[in-house]
Amino acid sequence: MRVNAYAAPAAGQPLAPTVIERREVGSNDVLIQIEYAGICHSDIHTVNGDWGPQPFPVVPGHEIVGVVTEVGADVSRHRVGDRVGVGCMVNSCGECANCRACDEQYCLKGMVGTYAATDRDGTTTHGGYSTHVVVDSDYVLSVPDGIDPVAAAPLLCAGITTYAPLRHWNAGPGKKVAIVGLGGLGHMGVKIAHALGAEVTVLSQSLKKQEDGLRLGADDYYATSDPSTFEQLAGRFDLIVNTVSAGIDLDAYLGLLAVDGTLVNVGAPAEPLSLNVFSLIGGRRSFAGSMIGGIALTQEMLDFCAQHGIGAEVEVIAADQINQAYERVLASDVRYRFVIDTTTL
Ligand code: NAP
Ligand code: ZN
Repeated sequence: MRVNAYAAPAAGQPLAPTVIERREVGSNDVLIQIEYAGICHSDIHTVNGDWGPQPFPVVPGHEIVGVVTEVGADVSRHRVGDRVGVGCMVNSCGECANCRACDEQYCLKGMVGTYAATDRDGTTTHGGYSTHVVVDSDYVLSVPDGIDPVAAAPLLCAGITTYAPLRHWNAGPGKKVAIVGLGGLGHMGVKIAHALGAEVTVLSQSLKKQEDGLRLGADDYYATSDPSTFEQLAGRFDLIVNTVSAGIDLDAYLGLLAVDGTLVNVGAPAEPLSLNVFSLIGGRRSFAGSMIGGIALTQEMLDFCAQHGIGAEVEVIAADQINQAYERVLASDVRYRFVIDTTTL
């Protein structure tokens, strides 16, 4: 099946319309007519080659929502007409200890990414900036009725990437949580941490988005460009989730943790980060990372969001605005996720 898509032809090149091939629907596959695809900063890192060489052309997009239009003979999880989502992963071995523990994203044989990855059949995967996608039904999520489909798309990456560490490190009543960076991931982190019952603080470069941050559920909002922020908040947080796409001064942020506190990095900058170990040992603190979340947890997150009336704050764009949207994301000018209306492809 040949379908319309948008692709980056080479590293750092603007995306342009193209036509790609989708595989035939296998016995455990579903065919999805895509309605919306979110733009994640990871899409931009990938097409810019920040994380190393990629198999171009790259069709990005791992925040996919659409409707099932065909199912394979063995599919029981999804039916034609269902509203479904696909996140960052479209396959894994299913057999290793991590897959069996529902942490398919940490598959010991390597999960198959939704785009720019080698699929099990040896072909390169292409993501959601396209009209249709064929995905193994075990990696397809159900989008609950309660969430507007356009606001649901960013949950498939930004939602689960913040939900997973917030749950893992027990964000909830009595816990002080800081979210660093109020972009796509950050704004979902604020909403979810607030819904989990934690006391939430936003640490943003400036106070420009303060009103939004408080409306989204933050209790406090500080500018990291103001050095007094780091004095005022020293030793305060149980958990800090860093969503910044660039390097930050880890030692300064680790100083904001209480004893036994954890700074979880979900931001994935191109350059290595460094820290002074005294920032950890002087408070039994931890520095950790977290990558998206398993399929079961992603479904739990979608159901949690539906229950709590949570969706992303989106700016819907047409396909021909993708390159401009990339520029705005790079300039931290996003409120708070660009979502492509894929009917414009
Ligand atoms: P985004 O929408 O661009 O948000 C990042 C935010 O970080 C910006 O809005 C800005 O917030 C802040 N920021 C940007 N540049 C900064 C700088 N130089 N110094 C300080 N703050 C800065 O990006 P996103 O889509 O949320 O993704 C964020 C990062 O997470 C990316 O690196 C992405 O690849 C990564 N990611 C990781 C996973 C995972 O599984 N671990 C999953 C998805 C994405 P303020 O304006 O509020 O300061
Ligand atoms: Zn993403």
